[in-house]
Amino acid sequence: MARPGPMTRAPAEAAAANGPLVAAEAVQKYFPLRRGLFARRAPGEYLRGVDGVSFAIPRGSSLGIAGESGCGKTTLARLLLRLITPTAGRILFEGVDLSTLDGPALLAFRRRAQLMVQNPYEAINPRFTMEQALAEPLVIHGIGTREDRLDRVIAALAQVNLRPADAFLDKYPHQLSGGQLQRVGLARALMVDPIFLAADEPVSMLDVSVRAGVLNLMKAIARARHLTTMYISHDLSLVRYVCETTMIMYLGTVAELGPTEAVLASPKHPYTQLLLAAAPVPDPGRPLPEITAPEQVPTPIGPGIGCPFQDRCPQVMPVCRTVPPPLVFVGPKHEAACHLYGPH
Ligand code: SF4
Repeated sequence: MARPGPMTRAPAEAAAANGPLVAAEAVQKYFPLRRGLFARRAPGEYLRGVDGVSFAIPRGSSLGIAGESGCGKTTLARLLLRLITPTAGRILFEGVDLSTLDGPALLAFRRRAQLMVQNPYEAINPRFTMEQALAEPLVIHGIGTREDRLDRVIAALAQVNLRPADAFLDKYPHQLSGGQLQRVGLARALMVDPIFLAADEPVSMLDVSVRAGVLNLMKAIARARHLTTMYISHDLSLVRYVCETTMIMYLGTVAELGPTEAVLASPKHPYTQLLLAAAPVPDPGRPLPEITAPEQVPTPIGPGIGCPFQDRCPQVMPVCRTVPPPLVFVGPKHEAACHLYGPH
């Protein structure tokens, strides 16, 4: 079989370079359930963490993923970073299926795609000084001499506004505030010059007074480096502040997806409307939301039939009980998975 030469490879590489940086195609992640420590798993007993999700993140853009606990946000982030593998579907990074990567190609991907986690005290080894914590990714990827690495660590501390940088080199995590340590977490994620940064609830554990500072810093660095970013948050105000595109997830599925202003200013899916109605607004004169729903969250265990939101939806219809709603366009680049807008 003829090997593809430069002439045949070029169009594919050009297409990948112009296409989205990250693309998910009908991605599923099911987790098998077990009853008891030694019991065998019964067929069909699984938890649907992510259930048929498709979307793309253009290069240099920011996607916000919002939804309540257990909706699959974090599982999706772990899939996109290949920390876990999909049960079905494909995840493409620069046009390459992540499941095909191994060895040096997988190591190169690990360098290009980084994760910033929610709890900065868990992200940094408590026995490491800041110099050790920030130099570690460089050591893992074999980057630079010891002197080079120290220079990079000092520059990274300065970039996240921890100045004078020299004063932080010998400090341990317990000697820093939560806001300072989350800045170190950001610097650590950026040490190997990634092109994709996924941030999982990056400021939810910080005092309100320092959240804006960290978010502004992240926005500025992403713009300066032309980073592609993904923010996972239950906080719609954060998503509105930092993300161009917003995806609302419910029980492992995409409920609504589109430009942030369209999704949050004119939500179409009843679940998005519920989330926005429940979001706190600093106005004591504002009446309480009229939209309400049962508080219990339906289980993601077992086969889902119909719309995942049917048991909580104030506008449920008979078709919602049997037919899963597909994503349909409800505006320019704006989609919602709801039978209110479909052919039914
Ligand atoms: Fe509600 Fe039906 Fe739309 Fe689901 S498909 S959100 S149950 S109206």
